[in-house]
Amino acid sequence: MKTIYLDNAATTQVYPEVLEAMTPFFTEYYGNPSSIYSFAGEAGKAVDAARSIIADSIGADKSEIYFTAGGSESDNWAIKAAAEAYASKGRHIITSKIEHHAVLHTCQWLENHGFEVTYLDVDENGIVQPETLKAALRPDTILVTVMAANNEIGTIEPIEELGRIAKEAGVLFHTDAVQAYGHIPIDVDSQNIDMLSASGHKVNGPKGIGFLYIRKGIKIRSFVHGGAQERSRRAGTHNVPGIVGFGKAAELAVSEMDKRMEYETKLRDHLIDRVLKEIPYSRLNGDPVKRLPNNANFCFRFIEGESMLIKLDQNGICASSGSACTSGSLDPSHVLLAIGLPHEIAHGSLRITLSEKTTMEDIDFTADKLVEIIGYLRSMSPLYEDFIAGKPAADERLFPGNN
Ligand SMILES: *Cc1c(COP(=O)(O)O)cnc(C)c1O
Repeated sequence: MKTIYLDNAATTQVYPEVLEAMTPFFTEYYGNPSSIYSFAGEAGKAVDAARSIIADSIGADKSEIYFTAGGSESDNWAIKAAAEAYASKGRHIITSKIEHHAVLHTCQWLENHGFEVTYLDVDENGIVQPETLKAALRPDTILVTVMAANNEIGTIEPIEELGRIAKEAGVLFHTDAVQAYGHIPIDVDSQNIDMLSASGHKVNGPKGIGFLYIRKGIKIRSFVHGGAQERSRRAGTHNVPGIVGFGKAAELAVSEMDKRMEYETKLRDHLIDRVLKEIPYSRLNGDPVKRLPNNANFCFRFIEGESMLIKLDQNGICASSGSACTSGSLDPSHVLLAIGLPHEIAHGSLRITLSEKTTMEDIDFTADKLVEIIGYLRSMSPLYEDFIAGKPAADERLFPGNN
């Protein structure tokens, strides 16, 4: 049976070109880039080249890129270190209710260490409205951290505007761009971004490598103390193959991004059209337009997420319910709750995230199977039977149009 991988928001395939670029740095040029002899120089040059590619990809200078062990580390570093650095100015931080747990749990940790955090509401499509941020700013606010695009529902946030509001208030602005980076264009200057987190394995690079962009002049403490790597701010022998792989992946992601966005959007919209037309009582979560080209997220009434995933898996289709980090737990998605869905519906979501290698045949096969699976699961559901028999349901307003 063919595997149809539609969980690219959880992780992505390492492209063969990426692996090929990495391999010599395990076996051939294995020198420590911090060493003096010329043998190690190859590794040093490769790290430097990757740093330049990545800096260019977001309009930054290469001295502003700090390699880390991934998106979670970058988020932790940016938020904790900024809080510490500016604590004498104030102890108030602003974030949103739909952030990744790497941001939310870091903010919660700070709340236990003398900081106050405001979690901004989002609208019904998952957008942080600029007015909401304006209203939450206080004289003691020191940091605003809002993600560039959401990992569950794919909503793209108005980063440029949010960044401008923070800038005008003299407050540092960080964005978790792990889902956005390499998928949609990013420019740190025009988007008013002071710090930005990204991760290799979400853009066809290896796992365990990421970067944090820190705008020149921002004084935040080192994350790992030790050697002088990463301008002494993130010590530890460089993960040379990882950095080289991330550099190659970034290069591939940035080249022909427009073409890829157009292709993925076409597939995404075809899937959304088919699902909403052919499956009654279905709903698209997230903004229909301001959304990542590769993300579709649905709720199906009377359907429990886990059973749908198992049925899809039996057909070779890899998808996800909520985020990879929360599936396996019984908590409904905090993102779906934040956009106003009640608990019982937030349990039944399906996230499909495609890639440039997904084909129209894959999408049609998936839509066909979804129609079949949901029909089958509903035929087994007493709730659905009651509903069809005309008993009233509380969630009517959430499923407009196709009922
Ligand atoms: C995956 C993800 C992270 C975590 O990145 P890792 O490299 O897996 O640590 C953080 N934020 C968002 C939005 C993500 O999608």
